[in-house]
Amino acid sequence: MSQKIIVAGSGFAGLWASISASRAIALAGKEDEVEVIMVSPSPTLTIRPRLYEALLHNMNPDVKAVLDAIGTRYIAGTVESIDSEGKSVSIRHNDGPHETLTYDRFVLATGSSLFAPPVPGLADYGFNVDTLESAETLDAHLKALANVAPSEARNTVVVAGGGFTGLESATEMPERLRAIFGAEAPIRVVIVDPASEIGADMGADALPVIREALDELGVEPRPGVRVASVDAGGVTLSDGERIESSTVIWAAGMRAHPLAAQVPGEHDAHGRVLGDAFLRAPEADGIFVTGDTVKAATDDVGNFSLMSCQHALSLGRVAGHNAAAELVGLPTHPYSQPKYVTCLDLGAWGALYTEGWDRQVHLVRQDGKKLKQEINQVWIYPPAADREAMFSVANPDFVIVP
Ligand SMILES: Cc1cc2nc3c(=O)[nH]c(=O)nc-3n(C[C@H](O)[C@H](O)[C@H](O)COP(=O)(O)OP(=O)(O)OC[C@H]3O[C@@H](n4cnc5c(N)ncnc54)[C@H](O)[C@@H]3O)c2cc1C
Repeated sequence: MSQKIIVAGSGFAGLWASISASRAIALAGKEDEVEVIMVSPSPTLTIRPRLYEALLHNMNPDVKAVLDAIGTRYIAGTVESIDSEGKSVSIRHNDGPHETLTYDRFVLATGSSLFAPPVPGLADYGFNVDTLESAETLDAHLKALANVAPSEARNTVVVAGGGFTGLESATEMPERLRAIFGAEAPIRVVIVDPASEIGADMGADALPVIREALDELGVEPRPGVRVASVDAGGVTLSDGERIESSTVIWAAGMRAHPLAAQVPGEHDAHGRVLGDAFLRAPEADGIFVTGDTVKAATDDVGNFSLMSCQHALSLGRVAGHNAAAELVGLPTHPYSQPKYVTCLDLGAWGALYTEGWDRQVHLVRQDGKKLKQEINQVWIYPPAADREAMFSVANPDFVIVP
């Protein structure tokens, strides 16, 4: 092999970048000339959008067979640094040794992580659902509370953050707590957010729906305040209110993976690299940025990609295709994803499905839930390890949401 494309990350963007890069190389008949290498700590795809759920089953499917079927070489390790001048990355292998690998094209797909601000006590007493490990820790903690004497603190969960993850975690919680403590237990779930109303960010059409769901589920909104401190017995809010609680879930704020900071060029407030239309990092020759590490225009009327699976699935395809296309002489393809939808799980109430950037409500309750389950349990999972079937949906203009 004379040329190398290195993809860092086996999440939604990294997996589809590898598949689309392999497809482009195959289209050009250059399998013997260009190699795709994926570096990731494990050859799995963590289904992060489901980590708020009560049953953490099949949340980390193996993708090694997929990589084998498309001829991608897998390295079990982490990229520790990027030398954009020398076009190389430093890799720490899981079993210890370090290696420096040069690249012809590098695709940064290392995702994002929860941003936990220095709120006193949060690091010691807070829980979250950002990674499978942290979701499992929360689950074990909740189940262990069943053996603790009933108290207001035991029965109360406080969720900090009224965005997607916060709303999904909070609305799942009443049913989850009743399953653990018993149907008659006086459980309490509180959701805290500095916005003027919980769910206000979802837009005027969706807000009344969220209000109705929270009300029906008995989730108590605390808008207009922040969590000021956390301790072993509960939280204190910025307006001085004290809530006794053994379980505080932090769900406010995401940051791009720290490697994005090593890519020269402009970054947004979340640490994402501002990518060009082809998802190149404009100031780093040979580097593509994708998934949660890039901010890219989704259309020509001023909308930008979000840190979402919906965008990562398309951003990955485009970045992988373009990285390979530049090497094998195929046309590159601009990123475009004008259709934007959301499907917000609202626990036992159902789910809310919206279309458009103004989030027009299309489906609610069980109709929405059916779609949410389809998305969460089928659509976002890795494909079967069938090379031709994968290539048939790995084109850079593949439409994620028709
Ligand atoms: C609780 C929760 C709910 C969500 N709900 C939704 C939703 O309903 N809809 C939606 O669209 N989005 C949702 N998201 C967001 C979505 O999960 C992310 O936007 C998506 O995972 C981003 O994909 P990615 O491939 O960029 O990154 P990730 O999925 O984060 O994958 C990153 C990959 O990089 C690897 N990696 C990390 N560091 C290194 C390194 N140094 N070297 C090599 N590899 C590395 C990781 O192991 C992983 O394989 C949710 C997220 C969470 C946490």
